[in-house]
Amino acid sequence: MMHRISSRKGFTLIELMIVIAIIAILAAILVPNFIRARAQGQLTACKSNLKNIGTALEMYATDNGGRYPRPDELSLLSTPGTIGNDSTQAYLKQIPICPSAGKNTYSEAYDSTQNPDNYSLYCFGSNHTAAGMPENYPKFNAEMGLIERESQMTGNDSTATT
Ligand SMILES: [Zn+2]
Repeated sequence: MMHRISSRKGFTLIELMIVIAIIAILAAILVPNFIRARAQGQLTACKSNLKNIGTALEMYATDNGGRYPRPDELSLLSTPGTIGNDSTQAYLKQIPICPSAGKNTYSEAYDSTQNPDNYSLYCFGSNHTAAGMPENYPKFNAEMGLIERESQMTGNDSTATT
C-alpha cells in the first residue's frame, strides 16, 4: 500500500516513522528499568519481612528457654498467649506477606533445630528472580542473618549484611 507524501500539511510518512521509532526506542529503554525497579523494591520489602520475623523469633526464644518454634509452628509468632498467658500479645500481628508472591511464603520455608538451636527461613519459590535472586532467596538464619547468595552459605563471602 502506497502513501501519498504531501509537503503542504501534516507529517510525511517518514517523519511519522521517525517519531514512532524514537518512541519505541525510549519504551525499550525505560520499560525494563521500571520492571527492574519494581522487582528491586519488592525484594527490599521481602528482606525487611525476613528481618522482622527474625527479630520476632529471637523474642519468642527469649520467652521460651532459648527454643525457636518447631518447623511447622511459625504461626505461633502471630498467636497471642504463646507463652501460656492469654493476655500476652503476639510477637507479630501477622506473618508478613511477600509483596512479589502476594502471599505468605515464609511459613512453608521455615525450619528449626534444637541443640544447637537454630532456624532458617527463606522466601519460597522464584519470586525474586527478576531482581537477580536465585530461587528460594533471600534467606535468613539465626547465625548469619540475611543471606543473599549461595557463596555466603559456604563462607566464601564475608560481606553478609545483617
Ligand atoms: Zn519474597
